[in-house]
Amino acid sequence: MIFDFEVIKTFYGELAGKISVIRQTLGHPLTVSEKILYSHLYEKSGNKTFRRGIDYVDFAPDRVAMQDATAQMALLQFMMAGKDQTSVPASVHCDHLIMAKEGATADMKTAVYTNKEVYDFLSSVCNKYDIGFWKPGAGIIHQIILENYAFPGGMMIGTDSHTPNAGGLGMIAIGVGGADAVDVMTGMGWELKLPKLVGIKLTGKLNGWTSPKDIILKVAGLLTVSGGTGCVVEYFGDGAESISCTGKATICNMGAEIGATCSIFSFDDAMSRYLIATGRKEVSDLATANRDHLTSDPEVLAEPKKYYDTFIEINLSELEPYINGPFTPDLATPISQMKIAAKKNNWPEDVEVGLIGSCTNSSYEDISRAASVARDAMRLKLKTKSEFKITPGSEQIRFIAERDGFLDTFTKIGGEIFANACGPCIGQWDRKGAEKNLVNTVIHSFNRNFAKRTDGNPNTYAFVASPEVVTAIAISGKLTFNPLTDTLLNTDGKEVKFSEPAGMELPPRGFGNIDSGFQKPDKSGGKSEIKIAADSDRLQILEPFNEWDGKDFRGLPLLIKAKGKCTTDHISMAGFWLKYRGHLQNISNNYMIGAVNFFNEKTNLILNQNSGQYDTVPSVARAYKESGLGSVVIGEENFGEGSSREHAAMEPRYLNVKAVIVKSFARIHETNLKKQGVLTLTFSDKADYNKIQETDKIDIVDLNQMAPGKQVKVVLNHSDGKSETITANHSYNEAQIEWFKAGSALNLIRKLK
Ligand code: SF4
Repeated sequence: MIFDFEVIKTFYGELAGKISVIRQTLGHPLTVSEKILYSHLYEKSGNKTFRRGIDYVDFAPDRVAMQDATAQMALLQFMMAGKDQTSVPASVHCDHLIMAKEGATADMKTAVYTNKEVYDFLSSVCNKYDIGFWKPGAGIIHQIILENYAFPGGMMIGTDSHTPNAGGLGMIAIGVGGADAVDVMTGMGWELKLPKLVGIKLTGKLNGWTSPKDIILKVAGLLTVSGGTGCVVEYFGDGAESISCTGKATICNMGAEIGATCSIFSFDDAMSRYLIATGRKEVSDLATANRDHLTSDPEVLAEPKKYYDTFIEINLSELEPYINGPFTPDLATPISQMKIAAKKNNWPEDVEVGLIGSCTNSSYEDISRAASVARDAMRLKLKTKSEFKITPGSEQIRFIAERDGFLDTFTKIGGEIFANACGPCIGQWDRKGAEKNLVNTVIHSFNRNFAKRTDGNPNTYAFVASPEVVTAIAISGKLTFNPLTDTLLNTDGKEVKFSEPAGMELPPRGFGNIDSGFQKPDKSGGKSEIKIAADSDRLQILEPFNEWDGKDFRGLPLLIKAKGKCTTDHISMAGFWLKYRGHLQNISNNYMIGAVNFFNEKTNLILNQNSGQYDTVPSVARAYKESGLGSVVIGEENFGEGSSREHAAMEPRYLNVKAVIVKSFARIHETNLKKQGVLTLTFSDKADYNKIQETDKIDIVDLNQMAPGKQVKVVLNHSDGKSETITANHSYNEAQIEWFKAGSALNLIRKLK
């Protein structure tokens, strides 16, 4: 079955016409990203040239994907929009909440029990709103997307940072926060600063131990963790065409580690082969018929430096395997240099655990190449020195890896198979002894290796390499082992050397028919019941926020005057609090607990003007709210920088914060606050920040005359009876002023329905 084939057919049916308009508008040869981005302009964006890296543009993506942790609040918000179904196809994937501990069967049982209420809720919402639901055990979001939903030339957003994985199938796929998903699901335009373009030309051909993973490991070393920020990275050239579709997906997936908006390859034969193998020949045929529109123009390929903002060339024939880390994915060491680097940096050489799989690297090609190394080890009579764990990316992959004997091979060399889920890739690994915080080394084929990411132990040195290199190193037990040149002593005491790994791009016996774990929506016409237990502390139905009553804000006590940096982490902390992502009342107990109070330089200790006592920020905000008062938050520069987490904007609204006035906002946080109906203002004179006193009561007046570009009057009523009037700027356009008046953007959508 091809999911949402009508949407795909319509897209290809209109593509040629759209590209012709784009050509006329832009007036220059086009890269593949430009073709895809401009063919997905939101209807109100108009046909014009936007400036890369400068202009904000509204787009209309083709679909939305959500993982179980981030889907909760996104769907709770979507439910408030009063729609019968999502405006574009969407899917939810239960992968992040499964803890890896004792192997697939036991871990799945535990996950289904512990997360039952979340899974039941997600499943019931998906049923009601016609959203594809992938049950726990079905697999990891990006692998499922690649196997089922991605199509060349399409555009999608996903509430997970590795959404760009689908670039391996020629899609512009971007990781976003829940608020963005709600925008697209409710039919609003989705805003993005038009990305700059990085062009990477691949020449030559991968050989021997080198794999697609090594390309992105090298690129991460070249561009560093921030080098791709605000950019789409486009790969092209003969070398690009020689890489399998799943190999391309690995490269795009890990493009998140260089901060790229997304990465992409042009449509080619490898993508066509993958589409056909995964049962989507019709999509392959349509893409093939539109091939010219799904690749960069010949002029771009002939003179890339002229068309890309940054240009890099890599010769795959000369590339050697890389090992990146520890603690950062951009510390790239060629495998031949690892002995020197490990010694110089005092990295622990003994490898405790090797882990392969995850959505990044568990394709048939990856698994078959790693299995060939494992088989070679058995032939050579080698004993595995490190622990070895395998996380299949999906039930589909697990099934064929088992059917074709790969899992058996891994088990024979001492491997343990985890559930088809994120597990150790996202710290959901209940690793025995990790709490002792001992210094140790692990190596994996995932993408991120920041401190604590794998097992929660800050002293775990995590390195990243391809699955075949991880397998060889796990067998050797040494980080410094180089399978290209080094020998090992086998159980007979003989020196032996690995053969080069060999694998297959696609399963010769096909992918087979399996129970994939997909739950078809019952389409009961909105009658399905949404399941949330009354006493749940993880989930809570959202109530629409009140409309603005049309009156000025008068006598609002200052809640907190935050000093210095105030990121979304200071505003709504992660860690422990993540379990309350679906419960606004509970997660609001972390509001601003990381922010520094200007008046005492302490965190989470502010004056309650009513009682005269000092208390935590959430307690004081609640006390004001309960006594019918709103409040005001003051901040400094780039307020709300960091993630696009919508909780940081929902919590103040829930706690009745009426306005946030700062020296400057991080743009996404400002928009998120506006969407929730919190008034966002900036000091027209930044020095006015100094005028705010701890016991101020604040008026914000003439709000019924609010208009784009018109300043707002703010009166500071000090406790000594004096008052000062200052002016504040705002960046609301007409439509956003309507959000404020309606009480939130979702209230407005519901009203207009
Ligand atoms: S496997 Fe890792 S990279 Fe993939 S979605 Fe899960 S946590 Fe993210």
